[in-house]
Amino acid sequence: MDKLKILMVASEAGPFVRTGGLGDVMAALPSALAALGHDVKVFLPRYQEVDERLHRLQPLSRFVAVPHGGDIVEAQVLKKPRSRRGAEHFFVGHDEYFLRPELYRDPDTGEDYEDNHLRFAFFSRAVLQTVKALNWSPDIVHVHDWQAALVPVYLKTLYARDAAFANARSVLTIHNLGYQGLFEKQCFADLGLPEELFYAMTGALEFFGRVNFLKGGIALADKITTVSERYAHEIQAGEEFGFGLEGVLRDRSKDIKGILNGVDYTLWSPSRDNQIPKKYGPSNLSGKRTCRVELMNDAGLPIRDRVPLAGLITRLADQKGIDLLTEAADEIFAMNLQMIVLGTGDEEYHDKLRKLEGKYPDKLKVYLEFNDGLAHRIQAGADIFLMPSRYEPCGLNQMYALKYGTVPVVRKVGGLADTVEDYDPSAARGTGFVFEEYTSEAMLEALSRALEVFAGRRKWGKVMKTGMSRDFSWGRSAREYSEFFATAISVDQPAGTRT
Ligand code: ADP
Repeated sequence: MDKLKILMVASEAGPFVRTGGLGDVMAALPSALAALGHDVKVFLPRYQEVDERLHRLQPLSRFVAVPHGGDIVEAQVLKKPRSRRGAEHFFVGHDEYFLRPELYRDPDTGEDYEDNHLRFAFFSRAVLQTVKALNWSPDIVHVHDWQAALVPVYLKTLYARDAAFANARSVLTIHNLGYQGLFEKQCFADLGLPEELFYAMTGALEFFGRVNFLKGGIALADKITTVSERYAHEIQAGEEFGFGLEGVLRDRSKDIKGILNGVDYTLWSPSRDNQIPKKYGPSNLSGKRTCRVELMNDAGLPIRDRVPLAGLITRLADQKGIDLLTEAADEIFAMNLQMIVLGTGDEEYHDKLRKLEGKYPDKLKVYLEFNDGLAHRIQAGADIFLMPSRYEPCGLNQMYALKYGTVPVVRKVGGLADTVEDYDPSAARGTGFVFEEYTSEAMLEALSRALEVFAGRRKWGKVMKTGMSRDFSWGRSAREYSEFFATAISVDQPAGTRT
């Protein structure tokens, strides 16, 4: 396998700054690729939240000039040197854009920042300008989600004849098609792109009269991936999962591949997890009991051994199926079930969950915050992990849950369908409980099947252990990316000829 120079561009990456699954993927995939011998440079915005001292970031000695909004704007770039066999990280600074309390939206209004198109257009061009300043010529430019989707667009247009990118092939990974980077049409003029990219019907970025960053990336990246095989099919099949981009995706069908995310088992394994009260593994599950007792004590829930505890850790967004939960709350809590929810997001869900907590104080505990340690303790302490998602590109939590012996109850969509095997009582096989219809009845039916098996302790133990034995480590995903990059390189069309 050829060793590649890989430029990775994303809007978040653990451990520096992370709001969800993208941050987890970007924490692990670059080093998994570096471990295969590739030379990986990761670019992120330099947000307020990035702790420069802790991570020992150093300023680049060069000044990076970025053409932006008809002007030349300076980017202050910081670097974190490569750790042994790891990736190198760069942080693109422009205080006016990135020194803000949150990454994407104004916490006061709850709305997206009004200048997000400027922020991420600047970021994308600043990345390319910095790469040039470093005299580095990547083979692969791997960009993630709408925030970085303009990078392939710039590569195919303004940088088409740039020697630094002469060999570069671009790969766009879609982590969630529900977020496309949609802006009003007047924003297009700020991007510095050729006008034809916004012509009605034919323009790569034009989407029903608005500007769509992700659509531009889908049209112009050399290759596209998404984060599970099933999601790769779902997004092309129709509007339900394609959100209006299904046609554009179908046009690129032969260049799209689903590659399941991996799990960083150094962070997410009950046998190594320093954030849980007691470590445990499949051959010694007694620690899980300690984790359960402490979790429930902290939550102020009465400990009932015969009543399963369900955990839910999630962004509180429509995607996650929280409405199924709130709609069916009376039925759920009429069942023999307790629940702990950890999440932040839409105010509407905060209110509904707070009300439910008031109504069922000995059955439901709600934490409306982002708390990584607590996420680990819930994974370890719960019996069931609930993910009733409307759609789920990959989903990491259900894979973490499997490792912690916390049996997932999930909807059969995207990565959930690809990673959780529905329990078959006749063969006593499976790793979780899966339902198809997006209805609270279907969810309740799966929960009651889970409760039935929970009551038969031995069977439940087998489901737990089967799940714990599943392996979704990053090595496999990184190898698949590596092979897919090789197919991108074999695209013999030079960058810049497909506009
Ligand atoms: P998504 O990317 O759609 O948010 P995933 O399941 O792929 O969903 O990944 C979510 C990641 O974010 C997991 O690592 C999960 O533990 C974490 N997470 C989500 N919400 C919270 C929260 N409120 N507190 C701590 N961690 C959270």
